[in-house]
Amino acid sequence: MNHHPTSSKIGHCIVCGRSFPLSKLHRAAGLRPHLYELIAEEVKDCAPDSLICDEDLARFRRRYVENLLEEERGELSSLDQKVLDSFEKGTLTVQTSTAGEGDRKSSFGERVADKVASFGGSWTFILSFIAILVIWMGVNVIGVFATPFDPYPFILLNLVLSCLAALQAPVIMMSQKRQEEKDRLRAENDYMINLRAELEIRQLHEKIDHQMAKQWERLAELQQIQIELLEKRDDARKG
Ligand SMILES: [Zn+2]
Repeated sequence: MNHHPTSSKIGHCIVCGRSFPLSKLHRAAGLRPHLYELIAEEVKDCAPDSLICDEDLARFRRRYVENLLEEERGELSSLDQKVLDSFEKGTLTVQTSTAGEGDRKSSFGERVADKVASFGGSWTFILSFIAILVIWMGVNVIGVFATPFDPYPFILLNLVLSCLAALQAPVIMMSQKRQEEKDRLRAENDYMINLRAELEIRQLHEKIDHQMAKQWERLAELQQIQIELLEKRDDARKG
């Protein structure tokens, strides 16, 4: 074969059958036991000394994490799926701010409701309201006009106040509903960030385990080479 000297060390991926340089391949024995089991389930002739390429390993890792999630939570929700997809692509689809989205969706009426509700819950409103009541009663009791427009039991004032109360309740409810919507979005966002962090940590665990197993393997190999060298030297001495 017409290969570069270093590419003489090639192996075949047990899953897809393509050949790769050995540096691109992973020994099945170096993987996590659970991951190995998962691969062995699909690939019948998978043995501890089989080799697997990066691409297939990443695919099995993803499935492994997926299985873990499913085991823990039962059905995968669409939110989990979204996080998994973004996880695989290596992108961050989670929005860092939901405030912008909330504002974009709100209609004119909803924004007015927010303004009215926030004014209704301020000291400015309470004080000006008391002032209006006092002026209304004062004008009718003292008799600024020839005939007071709303004499003593202030029936008209009563009607106005009832109307005001009746209107205020739905406005406050509207505003509360919007606040709840915002909170829900924020909670969803937090959940996605947490789930992503969890997956990220799992992946790290996986990588560290893999790395450690690989290191042990290399160490054992080194030792083997040293022993062989020593034996050779002894043989040379004797010979
Ligand atoms: Zn492969």
